[in-house]
Amino acid sequence: MRRKLAAGNWKMNGDSGLLDELGTLATSQTAQAPQIVICPPHTLLTLASFRAQGSPVEIGGQDCHAETKGAYTGDIAASMIANTGATHVIVGHSERRDGHNESNEMVRAKVQAAWAAGLNAILCIGESEAERAGDATLEIIAAQLQASLPDDATAANTVVAYEPIWAIGTGKVPTLDQIVETHDMLRAELIDRLGVEGAQIRLLYGGSVKPANAAEIFQAQNVDGALVGGASLKATDFQPIIDALAES
Ligand code: PEP
Repeated sequence: MRRKLAAGNWKMNGDSGLLDELGTLATSQTAQAPQIVICPPHTLLTLASFRAQGSPVEIGGQDCHAETKGAYTGDIAASMIANTGATHVIVGHSERRDGHNESNEMVRAKVQAAWAAGLNAILCIGESEAERAGDATLEIIAAQLQASLPDDATAANTVVAYEPIWAIGTGKVPTLDQIVETHDMLRAELIDRLGVEGAQIRLLYGGSVKPANAAEIFQAQNVDGALVGGASLKATDFQPIIDALAES
């Protein structure tokens, strides 16, 4: 049985005041709650870990460098993220792949760097609107998974997030049939490649998940949770998504 996971990506939003939302989440969970991970900007990681201490909420980074240290101005190593008390890191988000020209090979190296630092990698993949329109979705995301997921991935060190780029921050969401199709295909690919571990690696859906659509999305049997951007910024939006996941 795969444990459900609700992950929030705050992106480049928030100052220390936003940690009150995290504080609310930290004190609102019941025993039925799924795993919860909040990924604030790197500047807030230490404070966020402090606020989440002793609660069921875990903290993650939004990106890491593939190297462990060196002359990489502005970058942050996975070990630095782990040193704040964080347990996860997002890698290969489309805003990194597109905005920072990150290739599958770079993303794969980041996944390995995350593992080496003792972090769980939340590996993102997803097709563009043009690729969806060209009927290339399954081929594109299978290729991304193949190239950016290392062979020794396990359910204990990796989560895969399928995020159609055209659905991120747009309010557009694939149909339930499309979500089922992509996640079923990804599950089959994972099992084909990794066997038992592939059956256990969690698959998240990401892209305009809101309180109003969460329960429908979580009907898909291979959706084990969500990676949520905008709706993770307020506890009043994120909590109903957590609750819908717990009830799914
Ligand atoms: C994301 O940033 O990963 C994301 C899915 O954003 P949103 O929920 O705002 O579409």
